[in-house]
Amino acid sequence: MKAFQLQSPGVAELTDVDVPEPGPGEVLLKVSGAGVCHSDLHILHADAWAPLPMTIGHEVCGHVASTGTGVTGWDDGDGALAYLCWGCGKCRTCASGYENYCEAFGRGIVPGPGLGYQGAMAEYLIVPARFLVPLGDLDPVDSAPLTDAGLTPYHAVNMAREALVAKANAVVIGVGGLGHMGVQILAATTGSRIIAVDLDEAKLAHATELGAAETVKSDEHAAARILDLTGGRGAEVVFDFVGAQPTLELAASVIAPHGRIVLVGLAEGSLDFRAGSPPAALPWGAGIVKPYGGTRADLHDVIALASRGAISVTVERHPLSEVKTAFDRLQLGQVAGRAVLVP
Ligand code: NAD
Ligand code: ZN
Repeated sequence: MKAFQLQSPGVAELTDVDVPEPGPGEVLLKVSGAGVCHSDLHILHADAWAPLPMTIGHEVCGHVASTGTGVTGWDDGDGALAYLCWGCGKCRTCASGYENYCEAFGRGIVPGPGLGYQGAMAEYLIVPARFLVPLGDLDPVDSAPLTDAGLTPYHAVNMAREALVAKANAVVIGVGGLGHMGVQILAATTGSRIIAVDLDEAKLAHATELGAAETVKSDEHAAARILDLTGGRGAEVVFDFVGAQPTLELAASVIAPHGRIVLVGLAEGSLDFRAGSPPAALPWGAGIVKPYGGTRADLHDVIALASRGAISVTVERHPLSEVKTAFDRLQLGQVAGRAVLVP
């Protein structure tokens, strides 16, 4: 089968590999859709990512092709999404549902498909049966991004949910794959007023269609504009789906006292967290959280929201053979919503 494999840092190619065999407790999934996340660009260019070669792709939708010994409850042909964070399932943190922060991986990232294990940009992949969630009636291609572009913003919103009361201001910086889902999740599940920020006018127009009340161009006037829109106090919650130096500085400039910055993007900006009286970087009472992925329960909620049409992924489809075109378009900021590869 064809698989888009990371062979060494910065080098990924579509290669012929054997179709894997499911072991005990595992399912062989025939991939119907594999989302292309900005994290895949970070992974492609990261210094080291073991074990290599690794098939990229952590947004997974497919159908059961075969099952290993001991697998019950899944039949050939069943549609499924693969949960992102393959926790140990045994530790106290996993037991409480937070497999995305599993203790077995110490202070490191919890691995998953395309994030340590063989991923979804291939015709087939192996998933331990306990990480599959039923697809229901959802589209088997366009739903793949729910497993990260849906899951991660949902978890991010949960991390600030108590502050997202009626008329609270929620700033969403970066209306790409994650951000366009974040806007919809805020609109569908909170009473907050959404202020969307992006460099790109088309992304801002998209945000308005999806439920943003206000849009702000990400430039040197953005902080003043957001303070103006929020009566000078700032926003109760700022979601940074970019994480670059200018976006983190913007987040710190517009977070309200007692507000919360939810930092999701991985663009390696840094934030001045100086102690002492303002004017320091953050106002009194403000905090920052840095979520990773989401819980399996969050994925069920995201699927439920999608099933009743409250959220949906804006998708451009590409055949797996055109994976490099999809990566290039993402790098250039040309994808509206999410690119999904179809093997
Ligand atoms: P994307 O490329 O689809 O979207 C990024 C968006 O940000 C684009 O619309 C772009 O125009 C906009 N943008 C870029 N620079 C900006 C700036 N200076 N100001 C305002 N907007 C700007 O990316 P994505 O797939 O949505 O991923 C977003 C980030 O989240 C990436 O860094 C990715 O690695 C990270 N991520 C984190 C997690 C997590 O669990 N923490 C999970 C998935 C992705
Ligand atoms: Zn665990």
